[in-house]
Amino acid sequence: MAEQITQLYDIRDDRFRFLVFETETLVEHYADCRWAEGPVWYHDLGCLIWSDIPNQQLLRWLPDGHVSVFRSTNFVNGNTRDRQGRLVSCEHGGRRVIRTEADGSITVIADRFEGRRLNSPNDVVVKSDGSVWFTDPTYGIQSNYEGYRAEPEQPTRNVYRVDPQTGAVAKMADDFVMPNGLAFSPGEGKLYVADSGGTHYRDGPRHIRVFDVADDGRLLGGAVHYETDNGVPDGFRVDGDGNIWTSAGDGVHCVAPDGTLLGKVLIPQTVSNVTFGGPRRNQLFITATKSLYSIFVGAVGIQAP
Ligand code: MG
Repeated sequence: MAEQITQLYDIRDDRFRFLVFETETLVEHYADCRWAEGPVWYHDLGCLIWSDIPNQQLLRWLPDGHVSVFRSTNFVNGNTRDRQGRLVSCEHGGRRVIRTEADGSITVIADRFEGRRLNSPNDVVVKSDGSVWFTDPTYGIQSNYEGYRAEPEQPTRNVYRVDPQTGAVAKMADDFVMPNGLAFSPGEGKLYVADSGGTHYRDGPRHIRVFDVADDGRLLGGAVHYETDNGVPDGFRVDGDGNIWTSAGDGVHCVAPDGTLLGKVLIPQTVSNVTFGGPRRNQLFITATKSLYSIFVGAVGIQAP
């Protein structure tokens, strides 16, 4: 019988040999999503929650393999948790960022900027000062597939910050085609933001940009940090050493703080997002088209979110 050989890693730099292990395997936990996104780890509960956007639900995976519907949604995409552990979600349907309170009620964090509705918030991260940062491309209003078709009210597709004290929504960057995943470096001195405009525009961006975060919160710089050679970068996370683990067309790309592609974890479906979880935060959970996967790696995720 012919042996089936499936390559799991594409190693581009020797540093990657310390971040992945030939003895590990990619495990597929669930395969019945329509478009899986928004993985978020609950360290206190030992479970993973993620979005199936077109099916309008959040799913929950438990380490015993059990998957169940956590709750229905109005096309929720990216998720994270704030410093109090509350679920913060980007909702295409309501064109807003929402927080789920301990009693299950919903608080609106942002739904408008300068009096006009947001496009369709895509991904979100909470800084240690409690400020909520999110991206607002138009994916969720371009069709009825993962939201409700509508004309954008915002002239640009922006990165926003919500002030933790006042709740004011401020535009931090507006020179994106399709701002998407975002994450801070360890220490929060840098903010990385993906531009996935290549999904809908010929020669559109397929890169992650890096900004310096000034003491007053403003973003400076914004140079291209990493350009993918396959698909687009959607969601991503940063590990404790500052490496970026980003979604791409052929798997998860691991990018060093200096922008070098260290290697790839190859995935058989287009990857949308990742997060670190597991008891030691070294289990990389991967949402990829229809499936939720995980693999143990040599990197450790930054504690919450
Ligand atoms: Mg996204």
